[in-house]
Amino acid sequence: MVNAFIRYIKITVVGYPVWVYNYTMLPLVGMLGSAEIQNNKGVDDLFNKIIRNRRIVQAIIGALILVGYLYFQISIWVILFIGLVSGVIFGKVFCRWMCPLGFIMELSMGKNPNTKNVQMYNYHKLGCPIAWVSGFLNRFSLFKIKRDSNTCTDCGICDSNCYIASLNKDYSIYKDKKDNPSIHYSCSKCLICVDKCPSKSLKYGI
Ligand code: SF4
Ligand code: SF4
Repeated sequence: MVNAFIRYIKITVVGYPVWVYNYTMLPLVGMLGSAEIQNNKGVDDLFNKIIRNRRIVQAIIGALILVGYLYFQISIWVILFIGLVSGVIFGKVFCRWMCPLGFIMELSMGKNPNTKNVQMYNYHKLGCPIAWVSGFLNRFSLFKIKRDSNTCTDCGICDSNCYIASLNKDYSIYKDKKDNPSIHYSCSKCLICVDKCPSKSLKYGI
């Protein structure tokens, strides 16, 4: 009885912050990414700042999930559920924005851009059950990366920063006749393409 009560308190104290953090932070990022809101330059800059600091967001969420799992016995099914719901809304965000293992894997990848592209592609092709499901959901998720063809200058910077488009010439973010890497199974929603676009033609939103 006492143990059950202590466990309940632990899950309440840590479990809720994990949920609240995940489901306030990610919708916030998503909202900031929506095309309508991004017409405001200040919000646009804030969104890009969040993308550049993605690893900090991932480290915080990843640490909360790890502590919740290891110390507070939050069920692996709850974590899978977090990954599934995130996938339905945002696509494959879990690996690069929330996963503690993904955080460590990214740190251990090579510094050479070509090597890193291959490692990134292969890692996100494999992953775990959350990655499999959310990778599949990239195609159907509510939030997507969209390009404004009126402002796009066809500079190709997005493609050269995307590990999928860099490795496979059948994929392109800006060439309409090619396949879009952002709905590819391996797109981990790093949003580097959105951040790097000099004309702000790429938006991540509904
Ligand atoms: S980086 Fe932006 S402007 Fe350049 S091709 Fe891509 S979407 Fe178009
Ligand atoms: S978010 Fe953009 S840069 Fe990152 S993998 Fe997906 S399409 Fe490529």
